[in-house]
Amino acid sequence: MKLVIASDNKNKIREIKQILHGFFDEMLSMREAGIDMDIVEDGSTFSENALKKAEGIFRIANADAVLADDSGLVVDALNGAPGVYSARFAGEGHNDEANNKKLLKLMENVPQNLRTCRFETAVALLRKGKPPLIATGTCEGRLLFEPKGNNGFGYDPIFYTETYKMSFAQCTAEQKNAVSHRGNALKALRKMLEDGQ
Ligand code: IMP
Repeated sequence: MKLVIASDNKNKIREIKQILHGFFDEMLSMREAGIDMDIVEDGSTFSENALKKAEGIFRIANADAVLADDSGLVVDALNGAPGVYSARFAGEGHNDEANNKKLLKLMENVPQNLRTCRFETAVALLRKGKPPLIATGTCEGRLLFEPKGNNGFGYDPIFYTETYKMSFAQCTAEQKNAVSHRGNALKALRKMLEDGQ
């Protein structure tokens, strides 16, 4: 069975291939599958966006299955923002530094105990002749007052994890993948497949 992963992000592709190893004969990135397509992520939930992305690619891909994901940071003190707007929080044109700056400014007067937040991911798997599968995963943390570390991407420098007592940007990729929202969503999906869904 041939799976197309609706992404060209090398880290995501590697993580997905590792976790879903054995369930598909072939797993291809969009580029490897010869697909160049941008799906507008305008849903109100991560699940809605992941499903929309998977459906868009499934329509044009010559594949038995398509996997798509959508993630973001949910901050309790901001009623869940930036949420589904995580990538474009500071405006269109994806800029991690501007997003982090805007978030820290909004949170500057929020005390330590109220800075709880979590990364969330939804993954959607579409297969020929089967109902869609959607799995979710989270990773709890606390928003720092200033960026720390140089690894990772997005909100990693301002996301503190109690597991390692440092920011995600101070962790290695292996440390982060072991506890990450994306990893947890993919493991939940693997469990569904193991259960024969
Ligand atoms: P995507 O759906 O994985 O492309 O994530 C959307 C946005 O959420 C990214 O552009 C980041 O701003 C943020 N985000 C998602 N996952 C992570 C993560 O693991 N670390 C830091 N930021 C993330």
